Amino acid sequence: MAFSTRRRPENAAGDVYVDATCIDCATCRWMAPETFASAGDQSAVHRQPETEAERHRALMALVACPTASIGTVAKHPMEGVLAAFPDPVTAGVLHCGYHHEGSFGAASYLVVRPEGNVLVDSPRFAKPLVRRLEELGGVHTMFLTHRDDVADHARFAAHFGCERVLHAGDVHGDLHAVERTLEGVDPIRLADDLLAIPVPGHTRGSTCLLWDQRVLFSGDHVAWSAELEQVYAFRTACWHDWDVQTASMHRLADHPFEWILPGHGRRCTFPRDEMRTRILDVAAWMERR
Ligand code: SF4
Repeated sequence: MAFSTRRRPENAAGDVYVDATCIDCATCRWMAPETFASAGDQSAVHRQPETEAERHRALMALVACPTASIGTVAKHPMEGVLAAFPDPVTAGVLHCGYHHEGSFGAASYLVVRPEGNVLVDSPRFAKPLVRRLEELGGVHTMFLTHRDDVADHARFAAHFGCERVLHAGDVHGDLHAVERTLEGVDPIRLADDLLAIPVPGHTRGSTCLLWDQRVLFSGDHVAWSAELEQVYAFRTACWHDWDVQTASMHRLADHPFEWILPGHGRRCTFPRDEMRTRILDVAAWMERR
């Protein structure tokens, strides 16, 4: 719960505000850019919502915020906002919202498929979300892209009885309990429509999940940079080996996809040929870093 007594002075005057507990995860900025922006090393409201649609997106960001750092002066009915998650992104893929502080606010996604739904990385184990996941058919598989974005994985596994999948290179602590570990750097077919692509670098066991030859869940391996307007990799948040991550980026260009849905950073979509060119461009850029 945000506190008006801790309201940041950088906020525009009015109903919606960010308080001083913001951890600068950027979630509100990509979910509701018409309302939230960067101000110093935290977020703030740069313009108050002016339409119902803008208010709805701002309140969705309030729900998604991992640290409950967004507040409103007025009371708003929240039923419709809570029911808006998971939020459709593209056919068959939904953004779970309810980001977790333990994964520094990383995004989590649900793939809805007849063979069983896949939860990619872990949102907060929040009752409204869990109920919606049940209504959507539950969780068959929980794919963990890397060790940092696992948050409430144990609670989801216990509740849904799902199989957790993680690369062996990232197994540590309570992650020893995951049901399936992946090995090596060669792609691993999990199902006709699901391909695990190991991309070591950000962490030793980072692995992307490619669904339907269309959507790449990239963890923290690759994302879109709104500032640079390019597909991007996080040099200052590379915890294992930058050269290894660069080699992984070159290999990723072998796979066709149209969407990048990352844990951190912005999502993006391009036609397959253009996406491949952009992946090769970022690999070349990484070689110069
Ligand atoms: S979602 Fe919350 S923690 Fe993340 S940048 Fe916005 S206010 Fe800060």
